[in-house]
Amino acid sequence: MDKLSIEKPVRVRFAPSPTGFLHIGGARTAIYNWAFARRMGGTFILRIEDTDPERSTPENTAQIIRSLRWLGLDWDEGPEVGGDFGPYLQTERFSTYGMALKHLQENDLVYPCFCTPEELAARRESALSKQDFHGYDRSCRHLNADEVSARLTAGEPCAWRLKLPLEHDDIVFDDAVYGQITVPFSEMDDLICVRSDGSPTYNFAAVIDDSNMQVSHVIRGDDHLSNTPKQILIYEALGLEVPTFAHLSMILGADGKRLSKRHGATSIEAYRDEGYLSEALLNYLALLGWSLDGKTDIFSAQTLCENFSFGRVSKNPATFDNDKLTWVNSTYIKEMGARAFIDALTPWLESAGLAYGIDGKANAEQVKDSIQDNRDWYEAIYPLIAERAKTLADAAPMVSYLFSGSELEMDEKSVQKCLSAAEIPNLLESCITILDNPSLEWQHNNIEAALRAVPEVAGVKPKLLFQAVRVAICGNMVSPPLFESIELIGRNKALARLKKAAETASTIAVSVKDVTTPS
Ligand code: GLU
Repeated sequence: MDKLSIEKPVRVRFAPSPTGFLHIGGARTAIYNWAFARRMGGTFILRIEDTDPERSTPENTAQIIRSLRWLGLDWDEGPEVGGDFGPYLQTERFSTYGMALKHLQENDLVYPCFCTPEELAARRESALSKQDFHGYDRSCRHLNADEVSARLTAGEPCAWRLKLPLEHDDIVFDDAVYGQITVPFSEMDDLICVRSDGSPTYNFAAVIDDSNMQVSHVIRGDDHLSNTPKQILIYEALGLEVPTFAHLSMILGADGKRLSKRHGATSIEAYRDEGYLSEALLNYLALLGWSLDGKTDIFSAQTLCENFSFGRVSKNPATFDNDKLTWVNSTYIKEMGARAFIDALTPWLESAGLAYGIDGKANAEQVKDSIQDNRDWYEAIYPLIAERAKTLADAAPMVSYLFSGSELEMDEKSVQKCLSAAEIPNLLESCITILDNPSLEWQHNNIEAALRAVPEVAGVKPKLLFQAVRVAICGNMVSPPLFESIELIGRNKALARLKKAAETASTIAVSVKDVTTPS
């Protein structure tokens, strides 16, 4: 980075077009802008580029803002927060584009182009067939002044094109990621600044806004690399200072193709709805093209903001790896602690209707109240599944058995496998007797010690009994730790479930007898 840009206050912007949801690539661009601003003690701006009236919607804007906030990003200027350089919606900035156009008109730096889209397309096609296409052929640049003023006075629709100098050096800029980039001037044509309907083109509006907002670094996806020389020419025409550019390499799917919906990678909110933690997703997205030290994969947003630099941003495309994201997420779950985990799980418990002390489906209000009133109980769930749940979506069904009343459904396969031995009904009855003793302190170590005596006395393998108890208590032969689960569901429910399982086991034993006893 050159000396000048370091001395200038750092002002960066994320400038999404609200033509769709915030996706992985956009979110990574936002994160790098944010981290760079925070690292440099600069300003992070959110600007909504909503000039495409057909595809931009307020719903998309709202969704982008929600997604950024969910990821934990905050902006110093922009929608909802204001700032001295607003408004921050391009549709509210049209007068500034008009003023810039006026300046260019007065200085003979633009000219009206009356060519219709159909004419342009036809000329382009014929030039392409001769492999001779160099952009716009400048036919309107050569119209004589009288004709131009007559057509303008008659109100004929026209676009305004930049009158590029006929001679110009190749365009050279220092990209903070890619290094020096040179684009031959011969590849440039008289680009449109303002369309015939009066709307600014993206390149024109972006330059005016970046300049008016005193943006020091333009950090964006490398799909905009081809726009940069055009924007530099607009800066030059307007006599404005060119910011530093940093283009971010693209993100590929596992098949090596540019990441898209085909790869299942959809919106940021879709990842939220699949049970990813915002901190984990932010961490993973930061890794798509940047590294802390080449070996540390797990770091906090604070560490990212304290260490972000372009020196560690890769020029090579990054590959989006869903397994790695899931690994990062499960690492966060393992390390986040009970308090944060229950906070994150609350919406999932709400939508599953799971509340301690309520049989059947609880409503969201009841879940919230129950969590508030029984915080310790909820937090005790965490160690049972911290090592098992990869996402919050995994966690909710994994713990639902802790909430069910006596109506807990036992998995049929598990019942057949673990409750069908002839000894099971008696063994379960023994467990009931032992646990139905008020002097047994209801704590998992005591419960375990008491129950371990049962197979010993009966002379059966512990596994035979504990598999059955597991199915009785958890509804499934695969479950989180058993004795902790018994403690959490409480004595009454535990006894009810063991009774129900003992009854089921007796029915199986009877039907097995029916089949095997010769009549
Ligand atoms: N609105 C553009 C986009 O969403 C922003 C490009 C830029 O950052 O200049 O791709």
